[in-house]
Amino acid sequence: MSDASQGLRLYNTLTRTKADFVPIDACNVRMYVCGPTVYDFAHIGNARPVIVFDVLFRLLRHLYGETHVTYVRNITDVDDKINARALRDFGGEISAGNLSLNEAIRRVTEKTADQFHRDVATLGCLEPTVEPRATEFVEPRADGKADMITLIQSLIKRGHAYVAAGEVLFDTESMPDYGQLSKRNLDEQQAGARIAVDAHKKNPGDFVLWKLSSPEEPGWQSPWGRGRPGWHIECSAMSAAYLGEVFDIHGGGLDLIFPHHENEIAQSRCAHGTSVMANVWMHNGFLQVEGQKMSKSLGNFYSIHELLETETFGGRNWPGEVLRLAMLMTHYREPIDFSVRKLEEAENTLRKWKRAADLAPAAVGQVPVEVVEALSDDLATYAAFQVLTQLAGDAADGNQAAAALKASLLFLGFDVASAEVDEDKVAKAIANRLALIAAKNWAEADRIRDELLSQGIQLKDGKDPVTGGRITTWEIKR
Ligand SMILES: [Zn+2]
Repeated sequence: MSDASQGLRLYNTLTRTKADFVPIDACNVRMYVCGPTVYDFAHIGNARPVIVFDVLFRLLRHLYGETHVTYVRNITDVDDKINARALRDFGGEISAGNLSLNEAIRRVTEKTADQFHRDVATLGCLEPTVEPRATEFVEPRADGKADMITLIQSLIKRGHAYVAAGEVLFDTESMPDYGQLSKRNLDEQQAGARIAVDAHKKNPGDFVLWKLSSPEEPGWQSPWGRGRPGWHIECSAMSAAYLGEVFDIHGGGLDLIFPHHENEIAQSRCAHGTSVMANVWMHNGFLQVEGQKMSKSLGNFYSIHELLETETFGGRNWPGEVLRLAMLMTHYREPIDFSVRKLEEAENTLRKWKRAADLAPAAVGQVPVEVVEALSDDLATYAAFQVLTQLAGDAADGNQAAAALKASLLFLGFDVASAEVDEDKVAKAIANRLALIAAKNWAEADRIRDELLSQGIQLKDGKDPVTGGRITTWEIKR
């Protein structure tokens, strides 16, 4: 193990091997994960990468320090499915001239993104460091961050893209090692799922970087006319904007390997002249429901929201943390069969763990090294959970096993604190601490802060914008 790896080993789709993870800069470990296309409720298959990479984010923060990890997860808010949804939901108002298409699209994407945020917060996921929206990265930006139009211009200038029939296309033959991630060669290439094979392409595998928009479609002015970007270019732009031309980890679902991630790699490497886009590529496995592929026609298509808030799955609703545990009981690279039985099993396990963790003393426990080691082996969550079950068995009133279990549950994103928070007590403690600070009794003030933290309550100090005086707010630390 090299020192910089902190013992972390990750499976890399690019090399098809598990290897020590060595960050480019241990002070800023950089990860990009493809986020949702916001046209409809996110389904439970979408929840899997969000939960899996949340665990990795937590682990990286634990290993390298909370402020030394940058996690970018984008929001795709330009897509033909979004246009279709806007026309379906607001078509009447648009044709009556009461609403512009852009406004209708904004309403669809904002509502859907808000729902997504509520869903994933209920699943115990931390917010990523940055959550850029594609539409803000189409045109050159005032802050000089990478944008899609400038990237496409560089690709044309470097001989990797061409204009044909109103489209800008990536020239796959201009990149001798195109296809490294999916291990497909050019002969096997099919066009991306969103684009029909057209005669204007030099090669069937060439994919769209930019396409013209009709007046009824959203569009931006560009050197190639009013149009909109292809799907893949947004992630090349937003990852470069926040993580640089080469970064550490790129993640997403297995279904994104081809064409999406393959094409992200092609665009980024050819635009920047680099040999890699991200050093490690991680992909979570597929999700089935009750042994069958999830599909609308089979009637087994469930949104996260439905499982949380309705009784459509197994005749009852399910707490977010039960969904979270059920998702993590299977290793992230394995296919998962999401079933009522699995959710029941997760719920029982969680109940036992939480009951045992309730025995923990007030002082904050350490996350046991065995839990960190298990997760550091390519996120072997099942091995980490074995440690938790062992701790639950050893837990007794006020003992260390109970404290370690509670710390582990908090670390893994399970809510063990919120049920017990007495808000009045917290408010009194905060007032008490502010009085101590005013009296310059720092040691006692810090003691109160640490005591609250040990109960999972994190204080945040800020300034009152009017008086300039210190104000303190609090939140549950996950
Ligand atoms: Zn992407």
